[in-house]
Amino acid sequence: MTQSGRIFERALRVLPGGVNSPVRAFKAVKTSPIVAKRGFGPYLEDADGNRYVDFLMSWGPLILGHSHPRVVSAVKEAAEKGLSFGLTNPYEVELAEEVVAAVPSAQKVRFVNSGTEAVMSALRLARAATGRKYLVKFAGCYHGHYDAVLVSAGSGVATFGLPGTPGIPEEVARLTFVLPYNDAEAVRNLFAQRGEEIAAVIVEPVAGNMGVVPPEEEFLKTLREETKKHGALLIFDEVITGFRLSLGGAQEVFGIEPDLTTLGKVVGGGMPVGAYAGRRELMERIAPEGDVYQAGTLSGNPVAMAAGLATLRELKEKNPYRELEEKTASFVRELSNLLTERGIAHTYNRVGSMFTVFFTDRPVRNYDDAQTSDLELFARFFGALLKNGVLIPPSQFEAWFLSTAHDEKVLEEALEGIKRAIGEL
Ligand SMILES: *Cc1c(COP(=O)(O)O)cnc(C)c1O
Repeated sequence: MTQSGRIFERALRVLPGGVNSPVRAFKAVKTSPIVAKRGFGPYLEDADGNRYVDFLMSWGPLILGHSHPRVVSAVKEAAEKGLSFGLTNPYEVELAEEVVAAVPSAQKVRFVNSGTEAVMSALRLARAATGRKYLVKFAGCYHGHYDAVLVSAGSGVATFGLPGTPGIPEEVARLTFVLPYNDAEAVRNLFAQRGEEIAAVIVEPVAGNMGVVPPEEEFLKTLREETKKHGALLIFDEVITGFRLSLGGAQEVFGIEPDLTTLGKVVGGGMPVGAYAGRRELMERIAPEGDVYQAGTLSGNPVAMAAGLATLRELKEKNPYRELEEKTASFVRELSNLLTERGIAHTYNRVGSMFTVFFTDRPVRNYDDAQTSDLELFARFFGALLKNGVLIPPSQFEAWFLSTAHDEKVLEEALEGIKRAIGEL
């Protein structure tokens, strides 16, 4: 048995499914999970010493690659001064300044410990600010595992084909309307009927959790117009896209300002950080400035803040976005060519350095389209890639990520592995 197998066997005895987050169990790809030992740059090494070109990249945070020297040294330096104080520390102020400077709609920001927590808190604020209780989300969008948005979610939930999850009262689920992504007409219709009851629309401005699905131009514009017209708030969940598509996120790329923005992943540079941000008068409703309670013992943790700060500063100084986009575009094109040569029906969506190859012959513009993918073929593709030294997300409904550490040579190496894997399908 492999080392990964041995460790996972022990894990199964003490962790539900052997994991702390469901997709890590590799169930959707019917493969024994690998156990990570270390990461360096674009590579991940498993407990058996196998090396993979990594396109999972911890599900998005690692835009600078694994263990980037600047981030690691910032973490060490912070850790030596103390792991947690439960008091204001300089790192959180500096990171907040960077976020406010970068994200167009952010005038104030509150740090939390995960994307889920950011979404939960932003929704509470939206309900408080509007005095309304209904929410709107889009099928296949994932906003973390908070009850109100774990309704027709993507990501792990899409993977397992669950409609939601036991444990969420119907009464709670009924407060969330679910519409198809990219369906501006459906948004207009709902607002015409129930507009005055809706507190907020939450959306992934580029969907990443049903696989990558770009927004059609009219879609985001309609969301901005309808929410404004009816006094509801627009929340961009930029947990993936924030600092990934550009320093200002999707809102900068598409030129649309939401009322509230949720952040996570890249903003923590690989440490557990989430954040929500918005206009001054909205954020000033948060306690202790305002009456909307939200707190956290470890929020603004100095070590986590230091990792985020080093990451954002590196991004700001190097501005790698254009190069990342070009590298990614040409890589996906070549990958697609290899599949075409082999006569395998597929399509791909890419925005910036995030993309998904879907095994379907129709364009993917919403969750229904994504679900026409051949999941059996995806599972075999995943397994063949793993054998050939390439790690991708263990589900069809996820984004692949490039980092600044994925240089031409590494991508060439990955394409070689992919070519061999496709030959084995
Ligand atoms: C990952 C993700 C979340 C949840 O973040 P966690 O840190 O896993 O709680 C929320 N929204 C989006 C868009 C995400 O991709």
